[in-house]
Amino acid sequence: MAYLGKPAYTIAVLQKYNFNFRKQYGQNFLIDEGVLEDIIDKSGITEDDCVLEIGPGIGTLTQYLAEKSRHVVAVEIDKALIPILADTLSDYDNVTVINDDILKVDITKLAEEYNSGRPIKVVANLPYYITTPIVMELLEGDAPIKSITVMVQKEVADRMQCGPGTKDYGALSLAVGYYADAKVILNVPPSCFMPQPKVGSSVIKLDIYDKPPVDTTDPKYMFKVIRAGFNMRRKTLVNALLGGSLGLTKEKIEAALDKMGLSPTIRGEALTLAQFAELADILRG
Ligand code: SAM
Repeated sequence: MAYLGKPAYTIAVLQKYNFNFRKQYGQNFLIDEGVLEDIIDKSGITEDDCVLEIGPGIGTLTQYLAEKSRHVVAVEIDKALIPILADTLSDYDNVTVINDDILKVDITKLAEEYNSGRPIKVVANLPYYITTPIVMELLEGDAPIKSITVMVQKEVADRMQCGPGTKDYGALSLAVGYYADAKVILNVPPSCFMPQPKVGSSVIKLDIYDKPPVDTTDPKYMFKVIRAGFNMRRKTLVNALLGGSLGLTKEKIEAALDKMGLSPTIRGEALTLAQFAELADILRG
């Protein structure tokens, strides 16, 4: 039975190993059993699943995952945590701990090794300093992934699931919208962590689409257009795209917008994903 969810056990483990939190690794450990149970419940993992956990810390969420899934692969960057994990996870024979930076790990290879190449599920309380690069790598990389259930800053969760015309709308919202159906499943206050983060947190679940909801001939080019379009938010889309490294002329961009029936003074934040897909195909053609 998982036991680390009780704050007293977490404190005992931290004291036993004289562990010092490393701020640069975004270490905020979960100490709330209700939140841990909710994450497991809503992530939809089953006894058949292979789960990738990013940043197991002292193994709190890992214990809950190990109870409910077939296998857990946990990738932790901080080598000071590896002997602690060997201790806290010693009762589980279905957990593999890897001491590495998740951004350097070949996730496709992990899925092959531990799940015969079938899609894995990602569940994690992410280190906030690299949330976006991690989520983008999971979405844009080629690894087979079925769903991603992650704790992130509340503000980042808001950006992931909003639409055009809102203040949080941007490249991240569009990337998430292209690859996945996103739902915030839980809001979590700072008091559920040790040490407490300065910001509120949310757990968001991304169910990866079998097929993206819009068609584009070259998704990579579309994302270049999207990133350039949001790089300079105060500028019109025409000027923002001219400032990017796309090698486009003003005439070409204006002609594309005209073809789509859009104003030459429109801003990137007004365009939907489908419109960015159409614009990218016209600009590329
Ligand atoms: N899962 C634990 C929990 O919920 O209590 C800890 C979560 S803590 C927010 C983030 C964890 O990610 C820390 O253990 C930290 O050392 C680890 N981490 C930070 N950067 C990482 C990286 N690039 N690759 C893998 N793990 C990382």
